[in-house]
Amino acid sequence: MKIRAQIGMVLNLDKCIGCHTCSVTCKNVWTSRDGVEYAWFNNVETKPGIGYPKEWENQEKYKGGWDLKNGKLQPKQGGKLKILGNIFANPNLPQIDEYYEPFTYDYERLQNAPDVKTPPTARPVSVLTGKKMEKIEWGPNWEDDLGGEFKKRAKDMLFEGIQKEIHSTFENTFMMYLPRLCEHCLNPACVASCPSGSIYKREDDGIVLIDQDKCRGWRMCISGCPYKKIYYNWTSGKAEKCIFCYPRIEGGQPTVCSETCVGRIRYLGVMLYDADKIEQAASVENTQDLYQSQLDLFLDPNDPEVIAEALKQGISQSWLDAAKNSPVYKMAMQWKVAFPLHPEYRTLPMVWYIPPLSPIQSAMENGIIGENGIIPDVKDLRIPLRYLANLLTAGKEEPILKALETMVAMRRYMRGKSVEKQADLSALENTHLTPEQV
Ligand code: SF4
Ligand code: SF4
Repeated sequence: MKIRAQIGMVLNLDKCIGCHTCSVTCKNVWTSRDGVEYAWFNNVETKPGIGYPKEWENQEKYKGGWDLKNGKLQPKQGGKLKILGNIFANPNLPQIDEYYEPFTYDYERLQNAPDVKTPPTARPVSVLTGKKMEKIEWGPNWEDDLGGEFKKRAKDMLFEGIQKEIHSTFENTFMMYLPRLCEHCLNPACVASCPSGSIYKREDDGIVLIDQDKCRGWRMCISGCPYKKIYYNWTSGKAEKCIFCYPRIEGGQPTVCSETCVGRIRYLGVMLYDADKIEQAASVENTQDLYQSQLDLFLDPNDPEVIAEALKQGISQSWLDAAKNSPVYKMAMQWKVAFPLHPEYRTLPMVWYIPPLSPIQSAMENGIIGENGIIPDVKDLRIPLRYLANLLTAGKEEPILKALETMVAMRRYMRGKSVEKQADLSALENTHLTPEQV
């Protein structure tokens, strides 16, 4: 058994308000430089939506992640350049339109405009071409605006006397936010697809980094990463990615996105895992088993045998203490409320998510969630169970439903304790939680 420690993150989607503070603070610290104006190491997506870059989840388009060929793992696009015209190039890259064209404003003109009756209107200027942009056709979170557009369209249709159809359409509408960053995968496809060997996973904490001196700008990592979390810097000619704020982590501080998160949705923690079993875990035949195969990799940080072996293999006492108190371990392993994003990509991602349940109050009032915390009819959930399962467990619905029920039970228990001053122990009966843990 080869024991390794990995820093991971859990994001509670039930609490994300889509304020983008995490993205902006991350950008200010790490990507406010020339050449990466369009890059967001952390971004917050409106779901269901096609995301950023557009359609990043379409693995056929970009050929990212891993393939199983005769039971063996291979990076999908194989790290091979193709002849395009008369040059060698990577054929599977997202284009700038699939991110968005970065723009700025002519501030000089805006601030020095003469006094007029109406405020001056500044037209955005493309950072890439320096030209004024007539209109902006696309941007991350475009779907937020389309929601407004849809409402208008629906109103027009109402006048045409087809209320029933509209009503049912509205009832089926849902939206949620998905903050995304590099997953610092246990089996990173970016590392496997880099021909110059410039991407590496740190032994001590599992953070995945790009050696800027070695990078030759071939960009195979960009197509190879199924989460599209590597960006090309047009000024330096090198690839860049989220560094999990490693200088802050080394100094005992949280990542910038975690520290500044308005909803307090982000939890950082250390996980211990058996590195000898990575390939086996990533190559299980049935994609629906990948969530469980990743869980099976994690070791119990309270097991004396694991602790003794980890110390023998050089893992420090402070990392072991961190693993013992890890909220990531609690949420993923003990309470089973957190899940990996798209485990079917086979990279064994380490940024996990608690599925959103809200608005809880209206769900309870409408009888969608019973008094006992049990969800009687999954068809009535605001966000379809199938959608969440496709996002987090490669389509397996049961663990997601159980997690949602655990969250309802936890709320009921806490409500009893803090509002009614009487904790209802029966709320926790069918969950993995104990009163001490809540
Ligand atoms: Fe590499 Fe991060 Fe992409 Fe995983 S999510 S493949 S670690 S860039
Ligand atoms: Fe969501 Fe927190 Fe980011 Fe706001 S700062 S969008 S609450 S993750």
